[in-house]
Amino acid sequence: MIPAAPIATQHAPVQPRWQQSWRDAVRDPRELLALLGLGQVAMGISDAAAAQFPLRVPRGFVARMRRGDPADPLLRQVLPLDEELRPVPGFSLDAVGDGAAKAADGVIRKYRGRALLVSTGSCAVHCRYCFRRHFPYAEETAAAAGWRGAIDLIGADASIEEVILSGGDPWSLATAKLAELTDALAAVPHLKRLRIHTRLPVVLPERIDRALLDWVAHLPWPVTVVLHANHAAEFDASVDAALAQLRAAGLTLLNQAVLLAGVNDSVDALAALSERGFEAGVLPYYLHQLDRVQGAAHFEVSDDDARRLHAGLAARLSGYLVPKLVREVAGDSGKRPL
Ligand SMILES: *Cc1c(COP(=O)(O)O)cnc(C)c1O
Ligand code: SF4
Repeated sequence: MIPAAPIATQHAPVQPRWQQSWRDAVRDPRELLALLGLGQVAMGISDAAAAQFPLRVPRGFVARMRRGDPADPLLRQVLPLDEELRPVPGFSLDAVGDGAAKAADGVIRKYRGRALLVSTGSCAVHCRYCFRRHFPYAEETAAAAGWRGAIDLIGADASIEEVILSGGDPWSLATAKLAELTDALAAVPHLKRLRIHTRLPVVLPERIDRALLDWVAHLPWPVTVVLHANHAAEFDASVDAALAQLRAAGLTLLNQAVLLAGVNDSVDALAALSERGFEAGVLPYYLHQLDRVQGAAHFEVSDDDARRLHAGLAARLSGYLVPKLVREVAGDSGKRPL
């Protein structure tokens, strides 16, 4: 895009294009269905589920859904359904024990050498299976506290070698806000790596703009971006272009996916995801068993089926295209292999 005037002569701060796309997201389940030619289909939409955790999906992501297909794997990830309200034993509000592992405002210390920052509560897309759908974000994000608690804690603990920006989606924060954090962390001598867990390059590739690329290019550590895509159809040319720019900036790109019934619970779908990701310069990292969070039970795949799918994948693909099948267990020292 060509700016209307050179940046230096503009007086009012110009809103980055990605923030406009962000705000323009679809938020009405009925509008979403109408856009997909599914206006006549009731599909078990739940206003009550949407009131608990609103629908939100960027229009560019909607454009990758198949029109007229109520079973589209991208649609299924975002549409609020009646099934979410069914109470299922074993599915709880804090499925992964984050409440207990909180070390400071927005900082979760569970694994050796790593501190995870719940940077912000915002996401460009709302994934119905998300384990953070019940997380008390407002008072507990690292950015809301001006990063102060996080910076003090990381600076004071020499065992922390890697900072993981998670969320919510850390790239939903303004680039200047991110730079505040990394400028302060640059003075921490024991820090060796930075990791960013984000779904934005996939769901809102406009986010990978010049300002963001300038920021990542000047970070003093090796940076790994762990993306989150669950289905090959989530990639398109706009995503490819965004990822190519991140790779050109020297970042390592990995993907984590969640095993989801009706979305990617077949060897074909998982193989296509790994292969499509690789075409875009991304290696698979984790395939997560679903966190047992209230409202997500209809996405669960049994452990036996998960193992069978994973074995099928390993029998078909090069080793480096096979993600590790894991589950997060509260109190464990790392993700537990299945
Ligand atoms: C998943 C997770 C990490 C990162 O684990 P890796 O196995 O290194 O990817 C770190 N901290 C917390 C709290 C996590 O949930
Ligand atoms: S992008 Fe990640 S954190 Fe945000 S709703 Fe989806 S799964 Fe949850």
